[in-house]
Amino acid sequence: MMQKADVLIIGGGLTGLTLNYLLRKAGYAALILEARDRLGGRIWTKTTTEGVNIDMGATWLGHKHTHLVELLQKLNLPVFQQHLGAKALFEQHQQGTAQFIPLPPNNEPSYRIQGGTSALIQALARYLPDGTAILDTPVEKIHAKADGVYTFSGALTIKSKVVVSTLPPNLLSPLIELQPTLPDALIRLMQQTHTWMGESIKAGVAYAQPFWREHGQTGTAFSHTGPFTELYDHADAEEGHFALKGFLRNDMANLSTPDRKRLVEGQLLKFFGQRALEYASYEETVWAKEPFTYAPYKDQVLPHQNNGQEMYRKPYWNGRLFLAGSETANAFPGYMEGAVRSAEWVYQALSKSPVLSLRK
Ligand SMILES: Cc1cc2nc3c(=O)[nH]c(=O)nc-3n(C[C@H](O)[C@H](O)[C@H](O)COP(=O)(O)OP(=O)(O)OC[C@H]3O[C@@H](n4cnc5c(N)ncnc54)[C@H](O)[C@@H]3O)c2cc1C
Repeated sequence: MMQKADVLIIGGGLTGLTLNYLLRKAGYAALILEARDRLGGRIWTKTTTEGVNIDMGATWLGHKHTHLVELLQKLNLPVFQQHLGAKALFEQHQQGTAQFIPLPPNNEPSYRIQGGTSALIQALARYLPDGTAILDTPVEKIHAKADGVYTFSGALTIKSKVVVSTLPPNLLSPLIELQPTLPDALIRLMQQTHTWMGESIKAGVAYAQPFWREHGQTGTAFSHTGPFTELYDHADAEEGHFALKGFLRNDMANLSTPDRKRLVEGQLLKFFGQRALEYASYEETVWAKEPFTYAPYKDQVLPHQNNGQEMYRKPYWNGRLFLAGSETANAFPGYMEGAVRSAEWVYQALSKSPVLSLRK
């Protein structure tokens, strides 16, 4: 089956959806192809059976994330402060007890989006008329020809004037067949660009009550041994639903869920006592096992390696291919702010593009 589009956006994460929003607001059309059965990519709020929203991906933002803050304001999405408290639990050794440590005053508070970060995805998804975001459609090949760019996913082919990839760069190359090939230096760069948080594991435990607060605890905890290395109070803005949520050690990716859960229970018991085991739900996401976020690198890469490189902010294939996504942004690459800035950069480039001569 063949479909046509002026602008084809590959990936329905924050970058792809923000770009679509900017284009739609200006009266232009775009089509999104998304590999997963959901929009949002690395933004994913899971709702437990008790209705507790737990952010398994991006969670926090700050005042410095000015483009994201502006987008949230435009979409009327309120934020609320993440409280860390004046003291945190600190666990140095598995055998020893956890100690209270004072936390320095927080001059740069973090904020969360009310309803969970996916509220941002849902708000942007309102700018997708029926049929303009196709899910469960992993792109396999992109071929530029004289009369347009052809993008292939199974039996579906999309012919477009321009393709914007919002994939983490090391998922685009080597996983997607690109014809003609891109410059060697760019291919090397993509394969050595770290996908921010790609190796992370997040876990959240929902409770009927924030029992830890009764003992003057804030829920903030840090550990050198894990399984949680960082833990935070994840109550919602209305203080109606309660959870503790944090990062597990990356090297626990190959354990089974029951094994991880058992280790989490042991640590929570140690931190907060018996009531910690009376939880309503346990949720986790092992991002390294998500093939549309993470692929192993050929060589070792460091956190944020090659994020924001200049080579990403150039059109390729004579203006028919743009490489977008948070990791390509000129500021805050890897973060939600980077995703918004990347979408804005591509939007600016497209509005000036002679290839497209955007039509309303
Ligand atoms: C655990 C975790 C915690 C984080 N915490 C924060 C935080 O607190 N604050 C913050 O600012 N940022 C945080 N981030 C980073 C933030 O989530 C990202 O910067 C942002 O969501 C990236 O958006 P994106 O659209 O550029 O990329 P992605 O969200 O990765 O979107 C790319 C999209 O492309 C799709 N895709 C992949 N392959 C294909 C294919 N072959 N065909 C079609 N579609 C494909 C994917 O499914 C995905 O939807 C966190 C990320 C993680 C994983």
